[in-house]
Amino acid sequence: MRFVVLTLFPSLIRAVAGESILGRACAAGLLSVDAIDIRDYAGNAYGKVDDAPYGGGRGMLLQCGPVFDAWRATGERLGTERPHTVFLSPQGRPFDQRKAEELAGRGEIVLLCGHYEGVDQRVLDEIVDEEISLGDFVLTGGELPALAVIDAVARLVPGVLPDESAYREESHGDGLLEHPHYTRPAEWHGRTVPDVLLSGHHERIVAWRRKMSLVATLKKRPDLFGRIRLEKGEGEALAEFLSQDD
Ligand code: SAM
Repeated sequence: MRFVVLTLFPSLIRAVAGESILGRACAAGLLSVDAIDIRDYAGNAYGKVDDAPYGGGRGMLLQCGPVFDAWRATGERLGTERPHTVFLSPQGRPFDQRKAEELAGRGEIVLLCGHYEGVDQRVLDEIVDEEISLGDFVLTGGELPALAVIDAVARLVPGVLPDESAYREESHGDGLLEHPHYTRPAEWHGRTVPDVLLSGHHERIVAWRRKMSLVATLKKRPDLFGRIRLEKGEGEALAEFLSQDD
């Protein structure tokens, strides 16, 4: 899987992509994360790539020429005229696990990071296939959202995580939030680990984890809970558990 990030801050991307699971996956050849400096395509001696908006107003905009030239050079490197191109934008569709799964099915993705007030609309109209937002808030640049997308997609690439079930069983893998986890010691600050987890009884542990997933989803994200199809008897079991929990 290849990620190419078009950015004014390539060192930010390289620093994160070189660490931990991403760094190991890149070293193993499972992924590549290239950061292309849009300033290299400024076309002037000063590396100037921005200008004031027509019509007035605050801030500066990334200009069409440097963004387009960086994108076209990237396509040439990837050997494709129109690589799938994502613009990170607070106006985009909010990023989620389903989108990460969809993007993981692609061989390569180009991620365009805006900065300042944004990017001239004309080059967006020409090169962007989709806009993705990290959430309903405004950041100073697209680098953190691009890294979030890369991280979420990369861990779905076969071989990046040691075990594929690792992400299937995690929050959002099957529409539920994950159950709580506990590790040693069995008692800490007077708080104990649920008995069932110490029982060694596999089936009871699986059933407990499913129930606690449902509880976590209902309590923390009732919007997600509304979309879940409960198995037979689960509604009653959950209601009983919650009445005892109150
Ligand atoms: N003027 C733009 C607007 O109101 O829609 C916001 C520009 S923002 C200050 C600069 C850049 O940061 C954007 O072009 C985008 O690439 C990135 N950015 C900011 N917030 C983001 C978010 N929530 N999700 C994804 N990218 C974001």
